[in-house]
Amino acid sequence: MEVENRFITIKASIDGFPQLSDFEVKTETLSLSFGVGNKQVVLVKNIYVSIDPYQLNRMKSSQTVLSFASAIIPGEAIDTYGVGRVVESDKPDFQKGDLVVGLLSWGEYTIVNEGTILNKLDPMGLPLPHHVGTLGISGLTAYGGFFEVCKPKKGETVFVSAASGSVGCLVGQYAKLFGCYVVGCAGSQKKVDLLKEELGFDDAFNYKEETDLKSALKRYFPGGIDIYFDNVGGGMLEAAVANMNTFGRVAICGVISEYTDNGKRAAPNMLDVLYKSITIQGFLVKDYIKLHKDFFSTTMEHLQTGKMKAPTDISCGLESVPSAFIGLFLGDNVGKKIVQIADE
Ligand code: NAP
Repeated sequence: MEVENRFITIKASIDGFPQLSDFEVKTETLSLSFGVGNKQVVLVKNIYVSIDPYQLNRMKSSQTVLSFASAIIPGEAIDTYGVGRVVESDKPDFQKGDLVVGLLSWGEYTIVNEGTILNKLDPMGLPLPHHVGTLGISGLTAYGGFFEVCKPKKGETVFVSAASGSVGCLVGQYAKLFGCYVVGCAGSQKKVDLLKEELGFDDAFNYKEETDLKSALKRYFPGGIDIYFDNVGGGMLEAAVANMNTFGRVAICGVISEYTDNGKRAAPNMLDVLYKSITIQGFLVKDYIKLHKDFFSTTMEHLQTGKMKAPTDISCGLESVPSAFIGLFLGDNVGKKIVQIADE
């Protein structure tokens, strides 16, 4: 069997801010020959694919820091989490027409080989995009990072950056449901309104309107911050550390403000870290796969009962992948950024 597959790739490594001209659409013919000993097991037609900031780090020429994701090779397909439908399968557990979720690609089709994450998907009454973000990698990241790394106690104060984004908006909601006081920052008034009016944050502010982040955080946390869930790094991390309480915890989930600028690195005051006994811990979602069952059932229940919301920002068509991706670094997205490649 053969299918024509159009996919998005990079023309060369990207070391600065990504541009539309860094990307191209390529066409390939996927040939499948199923049979004993063949490692090509399932052909999937991609429906919704995830757009994530960390992909930029995989596109760099000096891609040495990522131990869990390989470098993206110019000209080749780019893997990503997503939802699709089985077109052909050599594996008895998957039948033609099955909905699946797993590691797909920024393309129209993916050949999913043996050993790659792929599971049958029962949407359980929720929209398919929820299974890409909130019930997928973003959700598990937020859940594992907040409960295992931040180790919250009821009544503690929590600060979340990129709070209207895919991970951030979930962290804030988990923290509120758990009984913390939560403030988020985001890059526009529209996002601030979403946090306060729809997602239940106690307060929120537009960091782009603040000239002094340290004093802004002092204003929002007069009694100090117990937990900082960091999605952005840079000056916000420095300002948060300056406002942490004794025995505060900082979870380094991501440092997006540093992804596009190889010269910019946060320098939190280590005397604060020392004298306030602050814990700063980086983490990767893969460290918390063991929580998946708990995470999934808890989050599913919160979504079904309306206690949690899953803001989702969908662009349509394969060609919109590059602009959707670049938009992450411009703050264009509100909630989980997804591209719909094909009709459901
Ligand atoms: P997202 O927050 O949905 O989208 C990115 C957002 O980051 C943008 O909308 C923008 O919001 C903000 N941003 C972009 N450039 C910025 C800058 N220079 N300074 C401050 N904010 C900036 O993305 P996500 O998928 O949820 O990821 C959030 C973070 O978690 C990223 O750093 C990502 O790499 C990380 N992550 C880590 C793991 C892990 O395993 N540790 C897993 C998933 C994601 P504003 O309008 O608010 O600026």
